[in-house]
Amino acid sequence: MMNKIIFIILSSLFAALPANSADKAKPNIIVILADDLGYADVGYHGEKDIGVVTPNIDRLAKNGSYFSTGYAMAPVCGPSRAALLTGRYQNRFGFEDNPGGPFRQNAKVKPGIPKSEVNLGEQLQALGYVTAWIGKDHQGREEEFHPNNRGFNRFFGFINGATSYYASKSKEQGLQKDKKLITESEYLTDAFGREAVSFIKDNAKSPFFLYLPFNAVHGPLEAKPEDLQKFFHIKEKKRRTMLAMNYAMDRSIGLVYDTLDELQLLENTLIVFYSDNGGKPINRKGGGNASLNIPLKGAKGTLLEGGIRVPFLMHWPKKIAQDNRLDFPVAAIDIFPTVLAATGENVQPVNKLDGVNLLPYLTEEHKKPAARNLYWRFLYQWAIRDQDWKLVKLKGAKKPELYNLSNDMSEQHNVAEKFPLIAQSLARQYNAWSSSMMKPQWSWQARFGGEYKVKTTNKKANKKTAK
Ligand code: CA
Repeated sequence: MMNKIIFIILSSLFAALPANSADKAKPNIIVILADDLGYADVGYHGEKDIGVVTPNIDRLAKNGSYFSTGYAMAPVCGPSRAALLTGRYQNRFGFEDNPGGPFRQNAKVKPGIPKSEVNLGEQLQALGYVTAWIGKDHQGREEEFHPNNRGFNRFFGFINGATSYYASKSKEQGLQKDKKLITESEYLTDAFGREAVSFIKDNAKSPFFLYLPFNAVHGPLEAKPEDLQKFFHIKEKKRRTMLAMNYAMDRSIGLVYDTLDELQLLENTLIVFYSDNGGKPINRKGGGNASLNIPLKGAKGTLLEGGIRVPFLMHWPKKIAQDNRLDFPVAAIDIFPTVLAATGENVQPVNKLDGVNLLPYLTEEHKKPAARNLYWRFLYQWAIRDQDWKLVKLKGAKKPELYNLSNDMSEQHNVAEKFPLIAQSLARQYNAWSSSMMKPQWSWQARFGGEYKVKTTNKKANKKTAK
């Protein structure tokens, strides 16, 4: 409670202060998200042909530090982003499924990050940052969850989990500038790049936080004709389109980079790049966004590595090492504490953060974080990672599977029967963690979401019956 009061007092103090020269020493913060981008969809992870698609993302990796083992906290968009924004396991506050699901624990449940949690925008705004959210939201439709009501001075984007890349292709693209519905004439990924550049230029003189969650390369698969032309040699139509979408996102990231460079802000801007969950390669029925997770097994929606291990890097020339590949596991919950440390402010977060500040491991050679467990719980599935070991219980599986990721990152050899004591110990630790979490407050699945059912705009959801 005391912490909360101090936070509120500090918030109002900082809000009243104009940006001054002392503030200018604070780094700018930019967190860029890709949507459903697979592990193998960036050039710097070693797929040679992808280098021409992502030159700007690869430039960030080369001039920064990148993680071979970076994790999302959920294999789908909404809960994954809730963890990133709060620095806490989303299961702590019941955000286990995507918002919009019709099943709720009770009539009062509103799908979104509750006000008792402080998101990164609110935290940085309280520290004197000007904040913008440009891109996809997917954090709940209620007014109280609108980015403008949750720590962001500027919002340009859409509230839902997906939208058309062209206003002309959809009756309801749902694009907003702050709270006003607008019609956009440009291809959406280009519009997000343009708005990001404009925000940076407008705020070059004050410390800023730009949250830039692209919806690329999430469906619908729609690319610009001229970008498609660049990949005419790719025969598979979906793959060709996804590469063109990825290329467009990379171009917008390049514009952000070049703008920072022109304004001499690059040196003191911390840039994080991350994908909210793994890719969804084309499946037997022809579904998926044609992304690739190789050499990882599994895809978006599963807790196998392909669903949660994602491209993840940090770039800050003034402070962190360059061309630096790090192999220890890191996770989206580490972004909040790392950003907070980067501001140089000695602030006690309102709620205990679940991640760690990664800066010491990016600045001091060979220093590694202390061993820790990472946990996932996503409806039917759960997983725990303890150093090299991962125990994962998949949907429909009778028993959890055990993998040693140090020599089996592709999860080909289930060794649960060979090492029963390790499997038991991990299961015990997972159960202890899980029982300290909240149950999902809403869901698309009757079994998890609760007895109370709301009518949604989604016809498929309305047909599902409560348990
Ligand atoms: Ca996603």
